[in-house]
Amino acid sequence: MNAASQHLPEESFVCLGDQEDEPPSTIGKFFSNKTAATDFTPSLFDAPPLAPARPRVMRMNPKARAFRKVFFPAATDQEWSDWQWQLRNRIRTREQLRHMLTLSPDEEQALAQHSELLPASITPHYMGLVSSHDPEQPIRRSVIPTVYEMVKCPGEAEDPLGEEHQSPVHGLVHRYPDRVLLLATDFCSTYCRYCTRSRLVGQGDLSPSRERLEAAFAYIRQATQVRDVLISGGDPLTLSDEKLEWILSSLRAIPHIEIIRMGTKVPAVLPQRITPQLARMLRKYHPLWMSLHFTHPDECCYETERACNMLADAGIPLGSQTVLLKGINDNATTMKSLMHGLVKMRVRPYYIYQCDPINGSGHFRTPVAKGVEIIRALRGHTTGYAVPTYVIDAPGGGGKIPVMPDFVTGREGNDITLQNYEGKSYQYPDYITE
Ligand code: SF4
Repeated sequence: MNAASQHLPEESFVCLGDQEDEPPSTIGKFFSNKTAATDFTPSLFDAPPLAPARPRVMRMNPKARAFRKVFFPAATDQEWSDWQWQLRNRIRTREQLRHMLTLSPDEEQALAQHSELLPASITPHYMGLVSSHDPEQPIRRSVIPTVYEMVKCPGEAEDPLGEEHQSPVHGLVHRYPDRVLLLATDFCSTYCRYCTRSRLVGQGDLSPSRERLEAAFAYIRQATQVRDVLISGGDPLTLSDEKLEWILSSLRAIPHIEIIRMGTKVPAVLPQRITPQLARMLRKYHPLWMSLHFTHPDECCYETERACNMLADAGIPLGSQTVLLKGINDNATTMKSLMHGLVKMRVRPYYIYQCDPINGSGHFRTPVAKGVEIIRALRGHTTGYAVPTYVIDAPGGGGKIPVMPDFVTGREGNDITLQNYEGKSYQYPDYITE
């Protein structure tokens, strides 16, 4: 990454063809419009007024460039860089997938029978990362349906986390005392085949209507113990800036809400959505945190790095969430590479989730021992900031429970025995005083 990529200008972006590079940084320009009364940013960080808009270029990763050349040859640089164009041109049909990929029999069969299940949808950007010929490629497995998602294994359920039983208002989950989960929309630009909310996403039942969301705000307003709202979905960053700002400002107007968090996969699947205008709007609602969903190191391409840097430059603390998936990221080398990619993009690895037992997810699920093994391979072997917490979301609504390798291996009198990352044992004096 060059230094210029960390600080992005105010202007609209266009993609870079084969010949150009991103222009020098215009740091300071795009965080200058402090207009709303809800802007909590200290004046210390104010910047000079904006320069007049002028066209800019944005570099594309080589895979996306090659993909675009073959399948969207008429798309202009401006169109490819426009998140709405990316949404309009999502790949959703069997015919499109057949045209772009050599489908395996398992994929063919799934697409032929697929009408009632989780829809298939992939942005052109993300499709550029999908292998056209290898059905086992991790990115491809995460978004292309296979027949295995139609197989229900023991213990699986439509709503294994029991969210429906903890929803006082449609689209609002109140599981923990001091925080709530607001499902702003059921729409995602790209549908992950292992989605925990596959019962909801893409079904059209959770529209971001004013009426539904106002009912959620009314609940939060009277629940004075709630200090933290997580906005998720679906993917909330697929909403317009105006709708998002209405949601954020409505929550900010509730006196007992201390922090707002957003959960999104947009920086990985639709990085064009992260615009200077969006970043400038979001920074008015601090403290605002984001949990970014990543699956594989191949997602850490140039465009995603640019999106994460723009969010980080807007002062948003970024954490990651990764689902442990068989054949996709279930080995220490892949996971370490992903965690390193994340910290380089200023995203703090936060959670690795054991795959929830949703219907049809058995082919993705690993034994719990695999997650413990991966954490053991990370802890002490790399930067502490690159080591997330491995958790199981307890079926039935028990919440997230951390699962850790046991580094305390015994006790001898007043000493406990600890094992370090190399497997060596150490004694630590641990006197029990009355
Ligand atoms: S982005 Fe999140 S909500 Fe959307 S399909 Fe993927 S896991 Fe589900």
